[in-house]
Amino acid sequence: MIEFALLVFVWPLCVILAPVIAWSKGRSGCSFAILAVLFGPLAVLASMIVSPDPEIKIRKGLASGKLVRCVWCREPVHLDAAVCPHCQRDNP
Ligand SMILES: [Zn+2]
Repeated sequence: MIEFALLVFVWPLCVILAPVIAWSKGRSGCSFAILAVLFGPLAVLASMIVSPDPEIKIRKGLASGKLVRCVWCREPVHLDAAVCPHCQRDNP
């Protein structure tokens, strides 16, 4: 009986939750949906453990104004940085 409840209620919930959590971290929702179909709750756990995409963090920093693009190399640097850590030039 417990196996039936697991298949009917918990598994579809995992197939919905895992891609949504992964997508919110900038990861591929489609691949986590496939993982959830195969592994169920383990895929939800994996989506909670996986680190956010670093590019998403950079985009959020640029949008909030905490990061700016270096005028020399166009890499994201902290707003208060006097010297770019990527190209070692002074930021105006
Ligand atoms: Zn630079």
